[in-house]
Order: sequence, then structure tokens, then C-alpha cells
Amino acid sequence: IEFLNWDWKSNSQDDEIMAKIDEAEKKAKTIEETRKSLPIYAFRDELLNAIEEFQVLVIVGETGSGKTTQLPQYLYESGYTKGGKKVGCTQPRRVAAMSVAARVSEEMGVKLGYEVGYSIRFEDCTSDKTIIKYMTDGMLLREFLTEPLLDGYNCLIIDEAHERTLHTDVLFGLVKDIARSRPDLKLLISSATLDAQKFADYFDGAPIFSIPGKPYPVQICYTKSPEANYIGAAVTTVMQLHITQQKGDILVFLTGQEEIETVQESLQQACRVLGSKIRELIICPIYANLPPDMQGKIFEPTPPGARKVILATNIAETSITIDGVSFVIDPGFVKQNFYSAKTRLETLEVVTCSRASATQRAGRAGRVGPGHCFRLYTKHAYANEMEENNVPEIKRTNLGNVVLTLKSIGIRDVMSFEFMDPPHEQALISALKDLSDLGALNNEGELTKLGRRMAEYPLDPMLSKTIINSEKYHCSEDVISIISMLNVQSSVFYRPKDKKFHADKARQNFTKPGGDHLTLLNVWEQWVDTNYSLHWCHENFIVYRSMTRARDVRDQLVSLCERTEVKLESNPNPADIVPIQKSFVAGFFMNTARLLPFGDSYQKIKFGEAGRRIYIHPSSSLFQTPPKWVLYYELVATQKDYMRQVMEIQPQWLVEAAPTCYTKAELEKLDSKKKMPKNHQAASSLSSSRS
Ligand code: ADP
Ligand code: MG
Repeated sequence: IEFLNWDWKSNSQDDEIMAKIDEAEKKAKTIEETRKSLPIYAFRDELLNAIEEFQVLVIVGETGSGKTTQLPQYLYESGYTKGGKKVGCTQPRRVAAMSVAARVSEEMGVKLGYEVGYSIRFEDCTSDKTIIKYMTDGMLLREFLTEPLLDGYNCLIIDEAHERTLHTDVLFGLVKDIARSRPDLKLLISSATLDAQKFADYFDGAPIFSIPGKPYPVQICYTKSPEANYIGAAVTTVMQLHITQQKGDILVFLTGQEEIETVQESLQQACRVLGSKIRELIICPIYANLPPDMQGKIFEPTPPGARKVILATNIAETSITIDGVSFVIDPGFVKQNFYSAKTRLETLEVVTCSRASATQRAGRAGRVGPGHCFRLYTKHAYANEMEENNVPEIKRTNLGNVVLTLKSIGIRDVMSFEFMDPPHEQALISALKDLSDLGALNNEGELTKLGRRMAEYPLDPMLSKTIINSEKYHCSEDVISIISMLNVQSSVFYRPKDKKFHADKARQNFTKPGGDHLTLLNVWEQWVDTNYSLHWCHENFIVYRSMTRARDVRDQLVSLCERTEVKLESNPNPADIVPIQKSFVAGFFMNTARLLPFGDSYQKIKFGEAGRRIYIHPSSSLFQTPPKWVLYYELVATQKDYMRQVMEIQPQWLVEAAPTCYTKAELEKLDSKKKMPKNHQAASSLSSSRS
């Protein structure tokens, strides 16, 4: 391994780190001792007094001070859950909701899902005994649909408020409103960063309670020149630290599952090569779709002599605290969604993170003792290329689902909803327009019968419309199978580096005419036929856990279909895929594209920016044989704007599905353009550019 030239030497601080860690290793604390050692504990009574006195309280404290795990327990201990009332605590991330609930149930000595439970999309792990409920912010939002005043709750904690996720931002407006009509309700807004004044102002001058933290100093190192390959640099730095440093776990911030798996493989390989020359390196990945049984691993104490390296998405920035980390490696990137109302494109992009994120990340190294943070970018980039703060999600996402939810909660005028940071007006307008194109809103902007049914699904409106319309084509069973598979699409096919050839071959065997949706359906059906076999998954390079997750999602969709009275039927003639295609066209007519002459690039048929080229992702089953007309599930911007999960369609179906958006004449015109002979096309474009 060629080491990176970090301007850093082991100094006396490291002895201090080692002494601290040794000390921690020596005495395994009891749960009670651990709870009492958290910074928040010293302020327990003061906090409870403040909560007693004020209806709304903003609580600020360093990550790891104990806000998420302790606050609900303090409330429970001082009687706020008497009479079966609940304490609810929202989390922007599902993994955080699950792992924190697991931790708190352990601290309270109860079984998870009873007194302490969690609720995330497609998974409800609570019972009627539950008094402390962790949930994603999106799930609390959905509870407003059935219980507008949230009467079951005595206290609500809107946690990780600084994350400013779309759902948290919408919750701010809704809880502020019910706090007025429910003086008995306690509202805690908890945040890791100093932006608390903004929350206090929004909640009519609510007091701020700060939990003083005393993190240790973290030395920050930058690279001397920009790092072209940050993945490689991260791997090298991990090995460098592992070989040269005695102690201290390492935390690496990566942008997603794919990157995490790449780094994991490289590290495993490096360890194999070095064999017994180095100590054990325990690699712990953590990302949104990580199966629950693997999540526990990251919290297990590192065995003496070994070292843990945690490969995390920005979930480890503030949502989850892993003790024992002394080294942070920060490539400085994050994966974010962007929606442009102008181009109507929603893309997922890897972008430079903000300075606020970089500071949080570095801070993760200073919990056990003085730490080090290795930034895989230059000091100049930090100062000049990074934004100061993160842009709230509400300013960069498609608002379709949220607007539909607000409408069905009864908020008629979403344009004047009290947002902390209002979304761009154009984004709201385009969300309303999309919903009316989909038929969820009528000309007056009121919810239609279809819209009301669509709102029952915790899905993008395009997906819920697809499900509801599948009824018309008698193939709802097939459509919900596909949608369940789309939910796990990125992790269905297993492709280990050393068996790429076999994996690709296995994948090809699943290919079906019509495209990726039908291919996913084929995977699903074959798996069902094997009676959910694990062995079959191994043989066919299919990720078993993704399949079981798809099965869970599907079970939920079945019950949602029953609730919205969508009749469950299987496509009567499996050889005829048109009913399935038409169902998807009904929901996805906005995500459609046509192949441009002479090449492999597509252009959106409508709802797009003129001239923008999009492409079929190389992993698609349609990549080799691009059809003329396609619809796609999502657009991912990497080197190019790639359509992922692509289905072949016929243009005339668009007129049938969305007569207000498409006319037969214009589609025919587009269709005929395609057939122009080469020289004619060249001549015509030449003449048009001259004129
Ligand atoms: P905050 O919300 O203020 O960031 P937390 O309440 O999440 O703090 O964390 C308090 C402590 O609980 C931390 O030391 C953290 O490591 C520990 N902790 C949280 N979740 C788990 C878990 N699932 N397993 C073990 N320890 C955990
Ligand atoms: Mg927390």
C-alpha cells in the first residue's frame, strides 16, 4: 500500500486516546451507569421542570448527549404516559428509528414492540401497550390522516430538527397548529446544532434549553491537492491508520450503499493480502436499507486487539452515535435529491457536503477522547467550494406526495401553509399541477375521489395512481409485486467483484420482454414458486434480504388495496403484458421518453426541458435494444442522466391515460420524425438552424 502523505504525526494526544479507551474497555458499564454518564443526565430535573413549565421547548445538545434515547424515558419516568398516553419521537431516518427503539427497549428491560416500539414505512413494530414510540417523521405525518389532533400522544418530540427533512418541515407546521388547540400537549423540538434560534422564533419564541457538551478536540487534516479518487483515498487512509495506529475505531462517511460495498470489498481484499501481519479489522456498514439484524453489529464493543471501521452514510453524522470512534475520514460528499420544477426532473446526485456537515462529521471523532479527522479535500475547497449550510429538503424535492397528504389532512390552501422555509412557489405550483394531471385534484384544486384513495398509500402519487388504475386492467396483483420490487430495486441483484460474469449471466436469465419492471416481476414470481427459498437466491445471485423486504412491502400493499377497495386480481393472461404496461402508463405518463434518431439518447416526450438528453442505464435489460418509447421509474444523474427501471410503451397509450396532456396528433408527429432518412434529417436541421 502506498500511504497518503498526511501532514500528521502521532503526538501525545494519542497516548491520551489510548488511556481513555483502555479505561473504557476495562470497566464494562451497566446500563444504569451508562445512562447516568450521558451529558443529559446532569440536567434531568432541570429539563423536566422546563417541560412542565412550557408547552413548547427547543432542546439543543451535541450528538451523543442522550437526547434521543433519554428524553422519552425521562418523560415516561415522570408520569407523562399515565393512562396509556404515548410519547412520540420522530426520526428522519428509518434505521435510526429502529436502532434507537431497540436500544431504549433494552435500557428499559422490555421487549421491543411492547412498551417501546417503532413505526416506519411498511413496518409497524408497536402494540396497544406501546407508550414510547419512535417513528419516522413521515409516519407521524400519516397519523394526522386518521387522528387529526393526535389524541393518543401526551408528548411529541420532533427530533433531529436540524436535518430539515421535508417531512420534519411539514410536521413543524402541523404540530404548531395542534399545540394551539391542545394546551395539554407537550412539544419538544430537539436539534444537534446551534441553529436553534430559528426553531425558537418559528414556535413563537419558545425557550431554548441547551445541554452543554464537552467534546474533546479534534485535529483536522486536509489533503494537499484535490483527491481524484476519494474512494481509493479513503481505503488507503483506513489501512494506513490500521497499520500505524494502536487503537481507536475509524468512521468513514460515504454516499450510499454502492460506495459502502465497494469500500468494504477493497478493505477485505487488503486485509486478505496482509493476512496475519495485521490485527483484525472489523468492517461494519451502515446505510438506510441495511437489514435490522445487521444493524446491531455496529454497536457491539470492539474486541480487545481488534479495530472497528464503520462505513456509513451521513446517517452517522448526527442520527446515530457509535462510541469508540477516534478517527473520522470525510471525503466531503453526500447524496441528495434535486427536483427542478422548471425541467420537472427529479435526480439523485452526489454533491459536495456543506461546511456544517463537515463540522458535524469531524465532531464524531471527539467523543471518547481527542480525535483526528482526515478530510479528503483541500483546505481551499473547504473554504471556497462548500456551502455554509445544507439546503432544507423542502427546497429541493418534488412535493407531490406532501401536497397530497396536506390536502387530505384538510389543508385546502397549501400555498399559504406556514412553512419554516417556504418551498419555491414554482415547486408548489408544479406539484399541484402534477396532482391535477394525475386526476387527484379537480379544477378547483379539491381532492377527488381518486385523490382520496391515492392519499391512503405511503407512496409517490405516481405509484399509488398506478396501483389504483391496475384495477381497470385486472392485474393489481402483478402491479403490487412490481412496485414492491421497485422498492428494493437497487439491491436485488448481487454482483460480487470476483463473480461478475456469473452474476450478469444469472441476471440476464431473468430478462423478460417489456423491460425491467417485467424482469423484476419475473424474479419475484420465480422466488414465490420456490416457496421463498434462500438457496434459490444464492444460486441466482439474488439478495435474499431484499426479497424478504419486498415480501413485507407487498403484504402491506395488499392490505392497503383492501382498505382502498382495489380488487386483487392476477393478470389473466401472463403472456399478454399490455395490461401491466397500461397500468404503469396511467401513473407514469410524466416519466416518458422517446428515442432520438441516430443514437442511444432519449428526450422526454413532455414535462421536460427541451433538448435535454437522457439515457437508459447500462444495468437495464433494455440497454442493448432501446425501444422507441419508454417510461422510467427514476432518473439518476451520474456521468449522464440515466433512466433506471425502464419499460417499453406504445405512444397511443399515453393519449388513453392522460388525454389532457397528450394528443394523438402530436405523438404521431413525433413518431414520424423518427422515420426520417438520415440525409433528410441532416438537411432539415441544417435549414432550421439557418432560419
Ligand atoms: P443524541 O440523541 O443526543 O445524539 P443518543 O440518545 O442517540 O444521543 O445517544 C446516547 C448514547 O446512546 C450514545 O452513547 C450512543 O452510543 C448510545 N446508543 C444509541 N443507540 C444505541 C444502540 N442501538 N446500541 C447501543 N448504544 C446506543
Ligand atoms: Mg439523537
